[in-house]
Amino acid sequence: MTPVTPASVLATTVGSRCPEGAADVEFATRVDAFTDRHRDGLLAADAWESAGPPVRELLRAVGEAGLLRDAWADRGGDRATALWRAAALHRAFARVGNGAPGAALLTHLEVATRLLGVLPTTPAGLVPGALAGSSTSALAATEPDGGSDLTALRTTVGAGSAGGLTVTGTKWFISNAPYADHLLVLADDRDGRTGRRGPALLLVPAGPGVEVTTLDGLGHTGLTGAVALDAAPVAAVLAVGGHGLLVLMRHWIHERVMLAVRMAELAASVLDHAVADAGRRTTFGVPLITNQHVRFTLARLDADVQEVRAMAGQSLRLLAAGACPGGWAAAGKHRAAAVLAEVADEALQLSGGDGYRRGHPAERALRDATGLALAGGTTELMLQQIDRG
Ligand SMILES: Cc1cc2nc3c(=O)[nH]c(=O)nc-3n(C[C@H](O)[C@H](O)[C@H](O)COP(=O)(O)OP(=O)(O)OC[C@H]3O[C@@H](n4cnc5c(N)ncnc54)[C@H](O)[C@@H]3O)c2cc1C
Repeated sequence: MTPVTPASVLATTVGSRCPEGAADVEFATRVDAFTDRHRDGLLAADAWESAGPPVRELLRAVGEAGLLRDAWADRGGDRATALWRAAALHRAFARVGNGAPGAALLTHLEVATRLLGVLPTTPAGLVPGALAGSSTSALAATEPDGGSDLTALRTTVGAGSAGGLTVTGTKWFISNAPYADHLLVLADDRDGRTGRRGPALLLVPAGPGVEVTTLDGLGHTGLTGAVALDAAPVAAVLAVGGHGLLVLMRHWIHERVMLAVRMAELAASVLDHAVADAGRRTTFGVPLITNQHVRFTLARLDADVQEVRAMAGQSLRLLAAGACPGGWAAAGKHRAAAVLAEVADEALQLSGGDGYRRGHPAERALRDATGLALAGGTTELMLQQIDRG
């Protein structure tokens, strides 16, 4: 991890507006109103465990409420407020007890607005549509063989008709792919057709040459997809060969920080449920929570949750200060995934057979923790990043 001295921490928290201090009460109130309104509908955990999660519907509703625009439109350099608002959305969605709506939001927010918003070749209209929630996107980087090593891409850039470009290959485990209007595809440009050789980032509309099959996993049913690209027409070159991975690197730091924010809040919500449940369940004539062992377990988990919240907060502060905190983002994601898995496992145990039921908050979180430890870079790749500094 990059060494952070007390002075540099002070500089980032005092020298810029701290995201936690930049709390925007008006925005938070609107997010609360949105989650209250949709808690039993679009945000209900059950809806996201069905074969057809309401991805488009949720993004449209968040967009129509103006929350995407207010969190992600260019705020004239006020990065702290933008980050605080984006994190507030993730926290609120995690609090409703399921990681899946956050996955749809994260891919859409980070890919469609932040990334497309900064690339000069993005076609006009794409970002406003993304902010309105009327168009959806997916980032297709992982391939069936060795997603951790994106320098070994098998998806390639080819020549199309009338001087255009095409892309051919297979991507999988792509969040939002079954609902995406366009894909951001990482592909190897072996012949330098984009201007240079190497990994390029291409905008590919869902349509001819693109076939998406839904992939079901331990959690997040119906949300991820396998994408077969067969000479699919390229609408725009977002990053030329050799620059595709560089452009994505910074995106992944944001993604890992937001994943840590989400996992910390999901763990907090499962822990709150476990505390309430241990106060309600009675064994041997007394509430479960009267046992010292149970109270100590809950206290230890609470300390773990506070630790990963603080790590995520520090990563947000560094991002807000304009730093590129790769080590902090990796450490935060690594620890948050471990804490979420431990909280979910202990909470399930404390609830006994009830916790083992399909759909119990702890059972759901245990499945989410497994997926979130893989998505956005695996635990081992996070350790590799921390080791490199
Ligand atoms: C819920 C979910 C959502 C996802 N969403 C997206 C998405 O939107 N877009 C996208 O492009 N991808 C997405 N992914 C894919 C995800 O990024 C990959 O699964 C992940 O990067 C790992 O790649 P892999 O599955 O090919 O595993 P591999 O790279 O084959 O790795 C297999 C195992 O080996 C370990 N490993 C690999 N290299 C090393 C090493 N050098 N040293 C030690 N251990 C190593 C890995 O940690 C892993 O445990 C998603 C995955 C999930 C589960």
